[in-house]
Amino acid sequence: MLESHDREALFQIVGPAGLLEAPDDLAAYETAARYGGGKAAAVVRPADTAQVAAVLRHCVRRRLAFTPQSGNTGLVLGSTPDGSGRELVISLDRLKHSPRIDVADRTVTVAAGVRLSALNALLEPHGLFLPIDVSSDPMIGGMVATNTGGARFLRYGDMRRQILGLEVVLPDEAGTVLQLSHGLRKDNAHLDLRQIFIGSCGAFGIVTAATLEVQPRPTQTAVALLVPRDEDAVLELLQAFEAETGGTLSAFEGMSEAAMRHALAHVGALRNPFPEGLPAYAILVELTSAAAYRSGEPTLDQVLESVVTRLAERQSAPLTDVRFGQPERFWALRHALSAGLRAAGPVIGFDLSFRRSDVMSFRRVAIARLATTYPEWEVCDFGHVADGGVHFNLLHRRDIAPDPIATAAMSDHLLDLAVRDFGASFSGEHGIGRANQHAYDHYTPALIQQYSAAIAAVFARVSAAGVRFGPKDSVGVER
Ligand SMILES: Cc1cc2nc3c(=O)[nH]c(=O)nc-3n(C[C@H](O)[C@H](O)[C@H](O)COP(=O)(O)OP(=O)(O)OC[C@H]3O[C@@H](n4cnc5c(N)ncnc54)[C@H](O)[C@@H]3O)c2cc1C
Repeated sequence: MLESHDREALFQIVGPAGLLEAPDDLAAYETAARYGGGKAAAVVRPADTAQVAAVLRHCVRRRLAFTPQSGNTGLVLGSTPDGSGRELVISLDRLKHSPRIDVADRTVTVAAGVRLSALNALLEPHGLFLPIDVSSDPMIGGMVATNTGGARFLRYGDMRRQILGLEVVLPDEAGTVLQLSHGLRKDNAHLDLRQIFIGSCGAFGIVTAATLEVQPRPTQTAVALLVPRDEDAVLELLQAFEAETGGTLSAFEGMSEAAMRHALAHVGALRNPFPEGLPAYAILVELTSAAAYRSGEPTLDQVLESVVTRLAERQSAPLTDVRFGQPERFWALRHALSAGLRAAGPVIGFDLSFRRSDVMSFRRVAIARLATTYPEWEVCDFGHVADGGVHFNLLHRRDIAPDPIATAAMSDHLLDLAVRDFGASFSGEHGIGRANQHAYDHYTPALIQQYSAAIAAVFARVSAAGVRFGPKDSVGVER
C-alpha cells in the first residue's frame, strides 16, 4: 500500500491511467507467466521516457523498491514483485509510440512497451522482421533486459545481436537518461555501455527504447521432423545440415516424446505428425531463405529432401524416420510444448545451456539419475539443441503438490550435475530473477559477483528488486 505522499507524487507524474492500486487492477501485474508472483504496493505505468525518469527520481529519493515489467512473460520471477506488498511494479506497457522504421538502414527504433508480434506486423509490409522466435509474446524492453534467445538463435543470434542502440533511464537521484548509440553498426569511439544493460534484467536501469537491426523476411521455408537413430545421431544430423544447406538452416529444435504428448493432449487444434506413435525424440529442422526463387534452381523443399535422402542412405543412417509438412503445423506443435506442460500439472523448468556436444550426454545421465532417485518427476525436455539450449522441464507425475523439501533436493542435484559436471549455465536465456537468485549466488564466481555489484553501484542508487547483483543495503532495499 502506498503512503499518501507517494500516491500524490506518482499521480502527478503519470496521471490517473498511470497509477493502479485496486486489487483487481493489480492482479495481472502481480501474477507471473508460469507460477507464483507477489503483491505490489501499486503499479506505475509511465507513458514516456520523461515520466519514467520522474518516477525513478521519486523512487530513489524516497528509497522505494521497484520491479520493472514489460510483457511479464519472463519465467524466473524477475518481473513480478515479492510478497511484501511494498514494491512498486513499474510497467512499461504504455510506452508504445509508433516505431520508426528505416528501410534503407534496415533498422527500427521502438519503444520498450511494443510487443514482438506488433513490431513484426508493422515490419511485414516492408519485407522485414525481427528474427527472434519465442513461444511467448514479450515486449521489447523485456527482451533487451533478458537478452531473449529463442528458436532461431543458430541463424540470427540472440537479442544482443540485433541491438544497435538503447535508451536507458538510470535509477539515480537525477533520473539520468542515457542514449547509447543510435543505429550505428560499428562504433569503437567509446566503451560500448549498451552491453551492460542487455541481459541484466533491469538491475542497472530501465530500458525505454531500442534501435534494432531487422532482417529480410524469408520468402521460402521448408521444414521436416527428423527422428534420430539415437542420442549420438543428433549432433551428426546437426553437423550434416550445417554443412549441406548452404547457410539456410534456421532452426534445429529438439522435442522429447513426453513434451509432444502433453502438448497434443492439452492444446487444442494440434495435429499429431506421428499418428502411429510418437518417437522418443524428434527434431524440427527448418531451412529459410529471403532470396527470390529463380526457376531452374532447387526449391528449399527439394534441398531439404535431398539432404534427408543422402543421410538416410548413409551406412548406419543417423535418422530412422522423417515427416515433411506445413511449416505452420510443425511450428504449432513446437510452440505448444510449454503450454501443454503447464496444463498437464506442476512443472519445474531448468533453462540450461551446454556446449552443444554435451546436450545429449547430459540428457542421458540426467534421465537415468532421475529415474532411480526421483521417479515422481517425468522429464519433458525440449530445446534449442543447435545452440546448446535445453529447457529441461520436469512434470510431477502425481496429482498432488510436490513436496518442497524433496523438490529442492532434486533441483540442487540436477543443477550440480549440469553446472559442475557438465560446465552448463543454469540460465541459458531467461536471465536472473527471484526463482534462480539462489543459483546465481551459489554458482557465479565470487569475482564476477563482486564486479557486477560494483557496476550496479555506479549506475543504480536503488536497484530493481526482482534481481540482485549485489548485497542488500542497510535499509533492506536491494542494490
Ligand atoms: C511460453 C513461453 C516460452 C518462452 N520461450 C522463450 C525462449 O524460447 N527463449 C527465451 O529467451 N525466452 C523465452 N521465454 C521467456 C520470456 O518470454 C523472455 O524472457 C522475454 O524476453 C521476456 O520479455 P517480457 O517483455 O515478457 O519481460 P518481463 O517478463 O516483463 O521482464 C523480464 C525481466 O526483465 C526486466 N525488465 C522488463 N522490462 C524492462 C525494461 N524495460 N527495462 C529494464 N528491465 C526490464 C524485468 O524486471 C524482469 O527481470 C518464454 C516464455 C514463455 C511464457
